[in-house]
Order: sequence, then structure tokens, then C-alpha cells
Amino acid sequence: MSKQYYTTIGLEIHAELNTNSKMFCGCINDPDEELPNVNICPVCMAHPGTLPVINKKAVESVIKVGLALGSTIADFTEFDRKNYFYPDIPKAYQISQYKYPIVSGGILRGVEITRVHLEEDTATSKHDRGDYSLVDFNRAGVPLMELVTEPVIHSSKQAGDFGRELQAVLRYLGVSEANMEKGQMRVELNISISEDPKVFGTKVEVKNINSFKAMERAAEYEIKRMSALLDDDKGSEIVQETRGWDENKQSTFSQRKKENANDYRYFPDPDLPKLFLSKIFNIEKMREGLPELPEAKRHRYRNDYGIKDEDIESYIIDQELGGWFEKVANTLKDKDKVKTASNYITSDYLGIKKVNTEAKLPIANNFVELIEMVMKDDISSRGAKDILALIVLNDESPIKIANDKGLIQNHDEGALKEIVQKVIDANPAVVETYKGGKENAIMSLVGQVMKESKGSANPSLVQKLLKELLA
Ligand code: ADP
Ligand code: ZN
Ligand code: MG
Repeated sequence: MSKQYYTTIGLEIHAELNTNSKMFCGCINDPDEELPNVNICPVCMAHPGTLPVINKKAVESVIKVGLALGSTIADFTEFDRKNYFYPDIPKAYQISQYKYPIVSGGILRGVEITRVHLEEDTATSKHDRGDYSLVDFNRAGVPLMELVTEPVIHSSKQAGDFGRELQAVLRYLGVSEANMEKGQMRVELNISISEDPKVFGTKVEVKNINSFKAMERAAEYEIKRMSALLDDDKGSEIVQETRGWDENKQSTFSQRKKENANDYRYFPDPDLPKLFLSKIFNIEKMREGLPELPEAKRHRYRNDYGIKDEDIESYIIDQELGGWFEKVANTLKDKDKVKTASNYITSDYLGIKKVNTEAKLPIANNFVELIEMVMKDDISSRGAKDILALIVLNDESPIKIANDKGLIQNHDEGALKEIVQKVIDANPAVVETYKGGKENAIMSLVGQVMKESKGSANPSLVQKLLKELLA
């Protein structure tokens, strides 16, 4: 029988900072450069006699992250050499931070942060050439922040929520595009299970994760795999190791067993000055200057607009959509109108966008005009959807489209009554069926009235009139 296990997860997350230049030299930091080895210089290629210079903007970015997470910003900080040999690391050491990271502590979504430090990215290797490999140094020396969480996450979902929230925070701060597919944000998952919540189990580290979905699946996979090991009756044990996520197989595989902890022989880099951050930055002013962050925006949207949480999340993830929604909501003002608008945005507009890449946000005022028509019952919801599908492709006025296409619903009961009576008179057999108890028969009469009115009648009004006249 399978036992209950308690899951523990800690994340190590790297994010490339979107500074103009690299971490320690003047080379362009361009993640989209496709030509290999063009953004390089003697410094990031580790030529003898060159000296690194700290990129102030990168340090500032990490401080901002720390402020956003409510962390402690170090007064004293320094860079260390992390020594190891690998072809993607030209100096045979990576400049990183060891004892004195820029940021310590902090919390996000209830997850405690251990630290955030600054380092340089490695080059990228290509091993798809058969008997040789290629190295592209464009990425070597790009500023990279590393955030480490405490082992306080207890489910795959909580890990996913944390990762997505951090991604949003980095984007709101404007310090990283944090795109996982592009490798601008990379997640390592540390996971263990144990019977006793107070005792940690053996930890496994999973790499090669390229989306949050993949991270959640990798965690689920590991929980199953490790539970099976502990449950079997052969006394199997979990091995402390690094595993890789295989996206095609949706499973993890062993990459390397943890040898004796790597000795990186860290020591402070003698080529770089030690930093006293409060002498370089006005931390309090930076704190005041932080932009609105996702959590604050969530609260504001909830209070000001009273829309669904799911809708709010769409606006949190997509800042452009959020800004546009705010413009619409602030023009409409009325809460019912805003709710209706939000429904059309999150289900209809986002739906159209999924299938039509050319669809773009309509001019806010045009969309407002459309919602006003819906609220006055001037058009049916079917008509509104049709108009929306048009105004996401060009900037036409919804009122004009509604008039041109004859989508304006007729509120004039007198005129409509005449048509209804005409249809009743012309269909004695259907009327008979209806009066005989087949209530559904009325729909065929509604259809005919709609046809007679060239679609301009309001279907619920037609039904009401029919019922009255047939009563
Ligand atoms: P290591 O020395 O192997 O690098 P660290 O103590 O530095 O381990 O932790 C690295 C990451 O692993 C952190 O995110 C931490 O929260 C997480 N971690 C540590 N122990 C465990 C555990 N038993 N289960 C899950 N995650 C853990
Ligand atoms: Zn360079
Ligand atoms: Mg460690």
C-alpha cells in the first residue's frame, strides 16, 4: 500500500537582465543577435591583461528586485570568482557572488527568498554538429541574476504560481523580459519527499526546464518516481542527483550523480572593487520609485472594477491589455458596464486573438461605443460579437457598422407588433401546434419575425410579443 509523502521544493531561478551592455564590458547585450560571436571583446573573451568594469545598471536592477520582494539590500557587497573549467566559460571562472550577495531574504507569494545575487552568463554551446561542437560567446558576460528560494514550497502548483509571479514582477520592474522559451529565465527545481514533514528527504535537482508547465509536470513526475522508490519492497533508495527534463517523453532522466560537492574555490575577485551600496545608490528613493507591482494591481482592480479574479489575471499577465482595459473601464465607469466589457475582452477578444494573429486591440473609444450599444440593447450579443470581430481588424466605428449591417435592434413595439401579427396570421398551423402545448413551436415564429424585420428586432422582445398576442 502506498504511503503518504510530504513534498518539499526549493527553486533556483536565473534571469538575464536587459541592460544595454554586458556585465563587465561594453559589448552589446542583445539576446536576439543571431550571428554568432559578434558581440564580443577582449574582456568577455578573457584575453590576458584585460580588466572587468561593473555594470551599474545591472546592480541597480538586482536592488530593484530586492526592494520589490521586501528583502534586505546589502550595504557591503562583493564579487567572487567561481572556478571551474568548461568551454563556455572563457576565463575558467565565472564572476559571481558568494558570501555577500546584493539581496538577502524577502518573500513572494508566501515563499521565502534566500538570496538574489548577480553574476555573468556563460557562452552557448552547440552540440548538434556530429563530431565537433561550436561555442557562441555573444551571451558570455551577459548580466544574470540568480534567485534562490528556501525549501518551503509544497506542491507543483505552488511552485508554478511562484515562478509565474516572479516572471511578472521582473517584467513590471522592467529588468528582464524573463522569457523562458528564449532562455532569459531558467528554472532549476530542487525536490524531495519524506514521510515525516519535519525531516527532509534526499533532494533531486531537475534542469532543462523550459516552461512553467514543464516545471509543474517535472515536479509531479518526480513525486511519483520517488514515491514508487520508497514504496517498493526491495529497499530502493532515492539517489541525490541532477536530472534532466525530457519534454518529448514528459519525464526526467539521470544526468549526473552528485559527486562530492563541487569545490569551486570561491574567492573575492581582486580585479573588482568592493561595493558599499548605500554610497552609490539612494535606496530609499529607489524604493519610492518602484512601479506598481502585480499584487498591488490585483488589489486595485478588485476594488475599483469588481471584476472576476480570472479576468484580473489576464490583465496582470498582459500589461498592455491591462492598460487598455483600464482606459475602457475608466470611460465606462458604471460597474455593470465594466463587467460586461471585461467579459467581451477576456472571452471574445482573447478568443479571436487566439485564432487570428492579425487581430489587435481596438481603439478604446470604439470598444466603449460597442459596450454602450450592448448595454442599451441596441444590438444583440450575437451582433456585438460580429462587430467586435471587425473592429479588431480595422478602426471602424461600431455604430456605423451596426447601421450598415442592419444590426440595430428595433425597440419600437408598435412597428414590431404589426410584423408579429402578420406572421401569426400567416402561420395558422404553427399557432395551432403552439396552443396545443408545444411551446417550442414559438421559435419558428420568432425566426420568421426576425427575418421579416431583417434582423433588427430584439429576439427576446419578439418572443414576449408573440406570447402576449397568442395568449
Ligand atoms: P546545494 O548545496 O545542493 O546547492 P542548497 O542548500 O544550496 O543545496 O539549496 C539549493 C536549493 O535547493 C535551494 O533552493 C533550497 O531551497 C533547495 N533545497 C535544499 N534542500 C532541499 C530539500 N531537501 N528538498 C527540496 N529542496 C531543497
Ligand atoms: Zn565584451
Ligand atoms: Mg547551493
